Amino acid sequence: MAARRDELARGLESVRARIVSACADCGRDPGEVSLVVVTKYFPVGDLSDLAALGVRDIGENKDQEASAKLDELGRVDPAARERLRVHFIGQLQTNKAASVAAYADVVHSVDRERLVRALSRGAQRAGREMDVLLQVALSEGEGRGGAAPEALEALADQVAQAPGLRLRGLMAVAPLGGDPDDAFARLARISAGLRATHPEADLLSAGMSGDLEAAIRHGATHLRVGSAILGSRPSTR
Ligand SMILES: *Cc1c(COP(=O)(O)O)cnc(C)c1O
Repeated sequence: MAARRDELARGLESVRARIVSACADCGRDPGEVSLVVVTKYFPVGDLSDLAALGVRDIGENKDQEASAKLDELGRVDPAARERLRVHFIGQLQTNKAASVAAYADVVHSVDRERLVRALSRGAQRAGREMDVLLQVALSEGEGRGGAAPEALEALADQVAQAPGLRLRGLMAVAPLGGDPDDAFARLARISAGLRATHPEADLLSAGMSGDLEAAIRHGATHLRVGSAILGSRPSTR
């Protein structure tokens, strides 16, 4: 599907241009900002095309979909599967943790102690090490997961001691309808607070298709971008 590959190439190019320009506006080096292409709801062929276009990091938010797609990619395009680092970015049920630990390189959505224990067991069983970001809830009652800011310190201690897991930083989604600059400024303060006790937790996953410029202004190291690259999804959230 050469036409689809061209479409993805244009999407990538326009998002990369937005990243370069947002970095220039705030004096950051675009090399510090990783782009995670969120492929949820999109087919295996897109993963293949993205890998061929030089993408290294992809994000998925449902275990059932992700594990099936990655298995299939391993069969139809093993070189692409080999190339891709998988970021799990969705709310995660404890009983899916072992499955996720078998394929994810980074989990962005760790928000409770039971999940830390389950991921640690899963990673050990799979003989793997996973990078962990703690998801922070920037607003209450949106049902999008995330730990309260006050709970992060204890959770960070737990991850830092869990075999098979490496504490790497924080993730957040800007509250719907709010000003993303306010949300990400708050996230940056929370991140600075956590780094005082856990200096290794220096990654910040923030920013999506609609608010990546604000996230870059406030120190994001990882952007999770879907629709601006792949087009609109059949249904979301
Ligand atoms: C789907 C999703 C994204 C990507 O959203 P877009 O608006 O399509 O860029 C980012 N983060 C999370 C947690 C998601 O579930």
